[in-house]
Amino acid sequence: MTRKIFRSTLMVAAAVLAASLVIVLGCLYDYFGAVQENQLKDKLRLAACGVEESGQDYLKRLSSRDSRYDWSPDYRLTWVSTDGTVLFDTHVPVEEMENHAGRIEIKEALLNGESSSVRYSDTLTQRTLYYACALDDGTVLRVSASQATELALVLGMLQPILIIGILAVILSSILAGRMAKRIVRPLNSLDLDHPLENDAYEELTPLLRRIHQQRGQISAQLRELRAKTDEFDQITGHMGEGLVVLDREGCVLSINPAAQAVFGVDRSCIRQSFLTVDRTPEMSQAVRAALDEGHGSMRSQRNGREYQFDLSRIEWSGAAVGVVLLAFDVTEQADAERSRREFTANVSHELKTPLQSILGSAELLKNGLVKQEDIPHFSGLIYRSASRLITLVDDIIHLSQLDEGAALARESVDLLELAEDAAEALRGSAEKKRVRISVTGEPVQISGVRTFLYEMVYNLCDNAVKYNVENGSAEVSVSGSGQGAVLTVRDTGIGIPPEYQSRIFERFFRVDKSRSKASGGTGLGLSIVKHIVQYHHGTIDLQSEVEKGTVISVTLPQA
Ligand code: ADP
Repeated sequence: MTRKIFRSTLMVAAAVLAASLVIVLGCLYDYFGAVQENQLKDKLRLAACGVEESGQDYLKRLSSRDSRYDWSPDYRLTWVSTDGTVLFDTHVPVEEMENHAGRIEIKEALLNGESSSVRYSDTLTQRTLYYACALDDGTVLRVSASQATELALVLGMLQPILIIGILAVILSSILAGRMAKRIVRPLNSLDLDHPLENDAYEELTPLLRRIHQQRGQISAQLRELRAKTDEFDQITGHMGEGLVVLDREGCVLSINPAAQAVFGVDRSCIRQSFLTVDRTPEMSQAVRAALDEGHGSMRSQRNGREYQFDLSRIEWSGAAVGVVLLAFDVTEQADAERSRREFTANVSHELKTPLQSILGSAELLKNGLVKQEDIPHFSGLIYRSASRLITLVDDIIHLSQLDEGAALARESVDLLELAEDAAEALRGSAEKKRVRISVTGEPVQISGVRTFLYEMVYNLCDNAVKYNVENGSAEVSVSGSGQGAVLTVRDTGIGIPPEYQSRIFERFFRVDKSRSKASGGTGLGLSIVKHIVQYHHGTIDLQSEVEKGTVISVTLPQA
């Protein structure tokens, strides 16, 4: 701005100076031109009187530089006859002069009595003024004088003009520089934080008022923006899902705490490339797919958990401006899917074995290939396989009921009574295996689904008998404490090796498949127990030692 003011001032000064010079020179030139013209006219009149009085003698005396005559050699007199013949000339011998009848001032003087004209030299630096008047005898007397033209004047004065110009430019530069600084200084010291408190220039008041208004608007917009950002942070901060917002170039604009935990980064990754957060090729491909096609997704493991990443393009006025990434923890879902797949495969397998046994036996019977005495064996095989199928299907139905989490009617159930009923039901098979089964404890009421709870106790007692040894024992005890109702089933059986103890609650898992099958096990018993305990918000504890026995305790909230 300082430079602009300086330049403008300098140009104005230069223009004023140039205009002044032109005007002054023009006026002076006009003035002195007029003076010269008047002098010329006076000289002509004087000479005309002299010629009329003394004829050619007067002119001769003039040209002889007679000191009595005040006649400057700068003035030239020419006497021309009526036919244009030059009769006398003060500067050139008449013999050398051509006929002047064609000269404009001569022609007009002959016509009008008086005339004037101007003629320029070839270089345009000189011009000659002519004044002519007709004498009484019809001849014409002409006076002429040379004069410098405006151009000659300017060229002649070029040096002083240049000196004046340079001096004026130097002076103007100094003054313009100072002035520009003086004008700009108050502008530079304006307090824009408090625009209305400035009194630099009156002309700036509307501008300062406008700045004040705009500051107010900007502050309000900033407050609104900050409130929105806080709101956004609050919402995304409490989200369980990870949220990352990327710009068009793939730089992180925002990342919520859940996403920071997923990728193992902190907020310092904001404004950095997303590659610093995750540089797997699958993720880069998903980001590119979101930008190009509008959507990208991938699934991968992070920190031992499985995540589903969904990426969507953010559009503004039809153009892609970024990508929003959502990370969902799908570990449970993936586990459920996996176990469902395994379950289906296991169910098919488990159903197929007894069915094949039934089919084989029935085919032999149908074709009459079985001897009379073998019929009880094959019909027994069919019976046992069918019973196994029924047990299997019952267990599957119970598991699916528990999986669905059906809200069945709860009632107050005495755990001791259930334990005694289950022990009674198993007494026959226990005796067959020479296993003593006993129930001790006190009546403890819990709120639950009777059929489920009975099945839980029955399965635990059944295992204690099934996986026992001859002359072993199975003890069931029921007690109530501050923590809840505790059912403990203790046996002196074969025990469970430590490496399998965490797996026996899985569906279809058996430590010894042939033993389990031989005793009619489906591999679903403990899985059903686990679900029933979870259904009743209880906990289960297992302690087992190979060849010594197993203790399984179930703690359930008391009614
Ligand atoms: P199953 O129908 O085969 O009994 P469970 O789910 O009830 O299936 O039990 C799973 C496996 O755990 C059994 O096959 C068995 O190997 C083992 N198991 C369960 N209870 C006991 C126990 N009291 N003593 C020893 N092993 C047991």
